[in-house]
Amino acid sequence: MNKRVFSGTRATGRLHLGNYLGAVKGYIDLQNDPSYECIYMAMDVHTVTTPFDPNMLQIATRDIIMDYLAAGLDPKKAIITKQSLVPEHTDLSFLLSSVISVGRMQDLPTFKEKIRQHPEAVTMALLNYPVLMAADILVYKAELVPVGIDQEPHLEVVRDIARKMNDQFGMDFPEPKRFVTECEYVPSLLGTGKMSKSVEGSSITLMDDLATIKKRLSGAPTDNGKGEKIPTEGGVANLLKFVELFQDKDARIAYEKQYLAAGIRYGDLKTELADAIYKELAPIQAKRKELEANPKYVDEVIRDGTERARAIARVTLAEVKAKMGLG
Ligand code: ADP
Repeated sequence: MNKRVFSGTRATGRLHLGNYLGAVKGYIDLQNDPSYECIYMAMDVHTVTTPFDPNMLQIATRDIIMDYLAAGLDPKKAIITKQSLVPEHTDLSFLLSSVISVGRMQDLPTFKEKIRQHPEAVTMALLNYPVLMAADILVYKAELVPVGIDQEPHLEVVRDIARKMNDQFGMDFPEPKRFVTECEYVPSLLGTGKMSKSVEGSSITLMDDLATIKKRLSGAPTDNGKGEKIPTEGGVANLLKFVELFQDKDARIAYEKQYLAAGIRYGDLKTELADAIYKELAPIQAKRKELEANPKYVDEVIRDGTERARAIARVTLAEVKAKMGLG
């Protein structure tokens, strides 16, 4: 049997460069390797773990699927669907929550961060987020998970749960590992933290046009352009990282030399960088337009993906229930 791969993106906004470089490029590498069976989803159930707009959720979820397809996910090579269409994930999640303690969940840095972001919305769903993520992965007995480094603490929980299910109930869950993408951490445009859908002004989305990319970059913090040491964190460090990611290492080295001598002209740097980012995004945007004109095709991808995902998920759920003495 081929090794399975699972990953997904929450339907909290449009895909951005962090999602693309930190996750989606990894999805594409793995779908192109015939030794893997890949399952990729728009994670709409995970979206309800933080405040959300129910009137927008359908659209946001479909947007993720269409951005996936535009960026290069291929339904002939991977199973692609929406998480809520495979109810086995949430069924399994409750059963898995019986082997992990509340304290372990409360200690997670990601949980503490979300409490800071939304102190008014610390719900059971939020606390359960990593358990649902464990169910997403384990329901397929997936071994590889292409996600950014921000998800590593959650994967640690998934492995704990897998081990406990194996020890206590005789399951044979693998302990899934993170598949490391070429760029596992894309910084925020704001100078601190990661690029994120939920942090306003932090990101460039895959669908931004050249003028929008320029506008977003123009707000990125800089300094006076020169100094004795190249900054290793903050706005300038992040801009240099983007130069390396979207132009190349030589362009970065050239800017670093300017920084140590006559100084960087950030206006020029931002214009060149915007052009380089747009060049990478333009074909993705053209593909997305084709998909928008063909909603039946997108419906069919989701229908077929759901059927194939459920065929696998049903078997695992039945096995867990039997081992736990349920049903
Ligand atoms: P967001 O934080 O923008 O809501 P998600 O939590 O939906 O993104 O993450 C979707 C995928 O994108 C995950 O695999 C996550 O690790 C990856 N990812 C998100 N932000 C970044 C980033 N700034 N750098 C690298 N990978 C990221």
